[in-house]
Amino acid sequence: MTDVRSDTLSGFAERYGHTALSLWSGPGRVNLIGEHTDYNEGFVLPFAIDRRTFVAMRPRQDSLARVGSSFAPETVEIDLADLRAENVDGWSAYPLGVAWAIGQFTGGSVPTRGFDLYVHSDVPVGAGLSSSAAIESATALALNDLWETDLDRRTLARVGQLAENKAVGAPTGIMDQSASLLGETDAGVFLDCRSLDAEVIGLGFEPAGLAVVVIDTRVSHAHATGGYASRRASCEAGARTLGVEALRDVGIARLDEAREMLDDETFRRVRHVVTEDQRVLDTVRTLREKGADAIGELLVASHVSMRDDFEISVPELDLAVESALGAGAMGARMTGGGFGGAAIALTPIDRVEAVRAAATRAFADASFREPISFTVVPSAGARRED
Ligand code: ADP
Ligand code: MG
Repeated sequence: MTDVRSDTLSGFAERYGHTALSLWSGPGRVNLIGEHTDYNEGFVLPFAIDRRTFVAMRPRQDSLARVGSSFAPETVEIDLADLRAENVDGWSAYPLGVAWAIGQFTGGSVPTRGFDLYVHSDVPVGAGLSSSAAIESATALALNDLWETDLDRRTLARVGQLAENKAVGAPTGIMDQSASLLGETDAGVFLDCRSLDAEVIGLGFEPAGLAVVVIDTRVSHAHATGGYASRRASCEAGARTLGVEALRDVGIARLDEAREMLDDETFRRVRHVVTEDQRVLDTVRTLREKGADAIGELLVASHVSMRDDFEISVPELDLAVESALGAGAMGARMTGGGFGGAAIALTPIDRVEAVRAAATRAFADASFREPISFTVVPSAGARRED
């Protein structure tokens, strides 16, 4: 039998001709609720999942960094003395960007102890499960150990974000890295995107007899870049007109006033963010007071808000949600930035196969591409594996 862990070690040995000394891993994540609230300085509630990216490493005596992945045939080499955010590209910008970013958080220059590093993973790429945060968090922990830089996990999340923003060039928030680094078994990470305070919240899915089904529509985020930018612009315009720093500062009580001050489209964008922040807070409270089987309506309300007010859903995502609810899910919503990607369905364990089959059938009836569905389990955050 092969598994990701041992395949990482054998992949390392094959690639470099010597064995790895240590192994780290970082999980992908699912966002339970709180969509497009991060850049409005609001709240999110993601969890780390049971699909992980492994990083095997062996220190070198010189200042060379060599990175390889089962993902790509080439091994990328750079002298750490020459490492800049601008001179990395392709997939290696993730691990090498993390190496550069650690330097930014530890006095400005990259530590020069070299390493051979190899990556292998069962987090699917581009399915909305943040394979990018998984590789960043595993690499950040590995290099933090190698270089004895002693950065805490919250700082390592910012290291991952800086790598992604500056070395990869993707303008992402800090949610994914926080989930991957701070996640715990059967728990979500309740993150305040303004203060960056994070709190681990027990989810209790398994004791409640619930599982999370991911339905990947396989619709690529075709309008994602333009759509994301225009939604951000609407949120910024709304905040400006309402005289607040960020939409985080607008409560539900101000929505009537906001309707008078904003054009219809901007108002609906604002209403999504304001109500979504409230739904994250309500979800956390409901989990604590009533348990996981009481959050279904909040998930559905989140989807409706993204579909009708924020207008970032697509017919495939709406159908995934509808078919899951029809087959017995307690709640379902699209997850991630929108315009494609995956939906999640919180489902009684004995309805999981029915929910998966219902999605497949509904997609076939609608002549959509066949979806891929699987379950995910809230799992431990990034860790050293040996
Ligand atoms: P996702 O939604 O999966 O995070 P992104 O586009 O943000 O999608 O990140 C995916 C990119 O991260 C890949 O195209 C690749 O460059 C890099 N990546 C992820 N996992 C690996 C891996 N195991 N090995 C090498 N690169 C990886
Ligand atoms: Mg990503």
